[in-house]
Amino acid sequence: MQKTLELFQRISTNLLEQEKGNPTSEYISTEKLYETIDLGLKEDPLSEEEFEAALQDLVFATPKTGTSTFFNQLFGGRNEKAVLGDLLAVLLNNSMYTYKVAGAQVGVEKSVLSEVCKIIGWDENADGTFASGGSMTNLMSMIMARDAVAETVKNTGVQGKMMVYTSADSHYSIPKNASFCGIGRNQVRYIKTNRKGQINVLDLARQVEEDIQQGFTPTLVNLTAGTTVLGAFDDVRAVKNICSKYNIWLHLDGAYCGAVLLSRKYRHLIDGVELVDSFSFNAHKMIGTPLTCSLIVVKNKKHLFDSFSNEANYLYQAEDDHFNLGKTSMQCGRRNDALKFWTLWKSVGTLGLEKIVDKQFELADYARTYIENNENYTLHSYEESISVCFNYKGVSAKKICTALYENSELLVGFGNVKNQKFVRLVTINAQNSKDDILNFFKTMEVFVDHNMVVKKEAQFI
Ligand SMILES: *Cc1c(COP(=O)(O)O)cnc(C)c1O
Repeated sequence: MQKTLELFQRISTNLLEQEKGNPTSEYISTEKLYETIDLGLKEDPLSEEEFEAALQDLVFATPKTGTSTFFNQLFGGRNEKAVLGDLLAVLLNNSMYTYKVAGAQVGVEKSVLSEVCKIIGWDENADGTFASGGSMTNLMSMIMARDAVAETVKNTGVQGKMMVYTSADSHYSIPKNASFCGIGRNQVRYIKTNRKGQINVLDLARQVEEDIQQGFTPTLVNLTAGTTVLGAFDDVRAVKNICSKYNIWLHLDGAYCGAVLLSRKYRHLIDGVELVDSFSFNAHKMIGTPLTCSLIVVKNKKHLFDSFSNEANYLYQAEDDHFNLGKTSMQCGRRNDALKFWTLWKSVGTLGLEKIVDKQFELADYARTYIENNENYTLHSYEESISVCFNYKGVSAKKICTALYENSELLVGFGNVKNQKFVRLVTINAQNSKDDILNFFKTMEVFVDHNMVVKKEAQFI
């Protein structure tokens, strides 16, 4: 093992060194992939040297997500204390289902979850769990909502006409989950959003009333803290009134930006979070831990047990059920995703996490100001969002993003809302500086101006 750890050390040192000069990996087309890197598997073993060379090539050829040119999706950067936690979790290789197998690591997970509940303002009735991502934690919320309105559903399957509500800008896992839960994709109402991308509360109330008259049982309202494209925050408090009136489960999907919970300056964006039935966020997005690190907390832990515990005598042979985390999780064997969040939190404190969150808004403000002061740009997103959406000189956003990728300049994505397509710069990497943001714009401008804008003079030739 020691020799293998030394190999790891060599490869990672080389990667960090190489990234400094080459923050974006060379683009490899899918047609060229297998001829560019030796990926085939053979009957005979490789020599140590060949093995190391093959690994090193693979690592260098992989897209770099931790550098200052990666703005593509909703994660980025490399938080060393969190990386350390994840490396240790791999080395320890516990499965989180029982105290017998995970021991102190159960305490780590419970500690993170209880601190999150405490910050929300919930009492010891609250609890939570980790799952393999935001789509999964959203699924867990839908299952709990379904079981809460009809206790027998677990055994009988869905009999009545259930209905789920979410905004038109919400994550695509909601209809998928409705199909998984037996509620059905057709029983999802997409409520219109306003200019900023927030759910229209009046439309939601009207739709709920209409559905009740049609014989449906409103089962879940899914709100979003940081919509995937515009980064908008739905109004929790206003929607809670509707949910209380009709006894509907309220979930807040904070996969993208729910971690504003940890910031005194930005927590107001999820004002009323203490009123929801369940709340989830991905620490692998705003907090910057490695993938995946996604948690869900519920105000009343009874629902976690009701929906996810199954008696299994071969598994649960010792200890208090509150330390047998398998009783409240989706999976059986489960990675230790909590440790990387805990190592980071332990080392920087809650105040350090707050700084990570605040920095992203600061970078977004900087990017928006840059765009607003430059007439070549059109801005499509709003203040208090870390998604900065824009068009540049009227050039197709898709073409810009694809060309920057294929020329190994920058990794950035485009989004689409209300029939407008735009570049979406996400300032989710708190390790970036304002100079890195400026560098993004300058790199893009130089590239687009040289390669994509039809030059005025050219028209006269
Ligand atoms: C990213 C995201 C998800 C899905 O999370 P995964 O961990 O990628 O499954 C769900 N909801 C929102 C709003 C997201 O941004």
